[in-house]
Amino acid sequence: MTSSPREVVIVGSGPAGLTAAIYCARANLEPLVFEGEPSSTGDQPGGQLMITTDVENYPGFPDGIMGPDLMAAFRAQAARFGAEFRTEKISRVDFSGQPLRLWVGDDDAPSALARTVIVSTGAQSLMLGLEAEERLIGRGLSTCATCDGFFFGGQEIAVVGGGDSAMEEALFLTKFATKVTVIHRRDQLRASKIMQDRAFASDRIEFLWNHAVTDILGDETLEGVRVRHTGTGDEHTLPLAGLFIAIGHRPNTDLFRGSLAMKPNGYLITEPDSTSTNVPGVFACGDVQDDVYRQAVTAAGSGCMAAIDAERWLEAQHDAGHR
Ligand code: NAP
Repeated sequence: MTSSPREVVIVGSGPAGLTAAIYCARANLEPLVFEGEPSSTGDQPGGQLMITTDVENYPGFPDGIMGPDLMAAFRAQAARFGAEFRTEKISRVDFSGQPLRLWVGDDDAPSALARTVIVSTGAQSLMLGLEAEERLIGRGLSTCATCDGFFFGGQEIAVVGGGDSAMEEALFLTKFATKVTVIHRRDQLRASKIMQDRAFASDRIEFLWNHAVTDILGDETLEGVRVRHTGTGDEHTLPLAGLFIAIGHRPNTDLFRGSLAMKPNGYLITEPDSTSTNVPGVFACGDVQDDVYRQAVTAAGSGCMAAIDAERWLEAQHDAGHR
């Protein structure tokens, strides 16, 4: 239990949280970062880039960089300026008044008190729940066409899902792949009419209706998928160079239910052009409040915004004589 409140506690350690940590540390705010801990549900300190191989669109790396190496560099940069890290996961918060309180595990006493909290717990791509996903993610299996589409020039690939994300990914992927098969578990798309029309109009997109992916094939790299007809149960193999899973995302916001305002889809609400949440002194950045762009560089940018917003909030409190 920390007896005196920290100026800034950061919850989450992807590009948003670590950028916030760099800026807060360089502003002498001595940030404490709860970086999370690995779990069987896919959580990992460092966020989604820890399960990404080549990152070729992060500015500053003309030859690309491996996702884990990029996050290790972010972390080292924050540590160099004095950010303190705890490899623990926050289990409970109380943002009903100052100081803000945060708990790890089942302890009665809070694990940290804070004047400001920066929430950067990220989001997760929903996955199919197949064993092979863990082995092949970043090795032909992807959840981000913007990030990985470039690797599939001239090849045949598939997208799983029938919503707007799946159509958007499939359309984007036609820039590279010779053929994109959309594998959907029903015979109707959930996507908006306009996205459906665009996908139907593409001569590079084919639809495999009423099929579910039952296995993803390949040891070192993805070689294909097994699919099963949802009506007849018939199975067959589809040889592929790549598979994009686009069945939705889930923000990591369960912890903040009842404490912070969120949209119906669970993403945190921040004020326009700001990282302020509905609770004074609590800021949110990165994918936890972004259901549109979801890029490492946009997350890092909003992490910088959150650090500046927190610093200014602390200054305003000081000027107003609240501390
Ligand atoms: P979504 O609308 O929830 O669609 C998810 C799709 O994945 C559905 O077709 C669903 O099938 C399928 N699916 C879900 N779980 C599955 C599983 N375990 N196995 C196989 N298929 C599965 O998610 P989204 O496409 O990510 O869109 C989320 C929100 O963002 C939507 O409101 C969407 O309109 C919006 N969005 C908009 C745009 C745009 O306008 N450009 C782009 C992206 C997202 P069923 O249809 O059978 O349920």
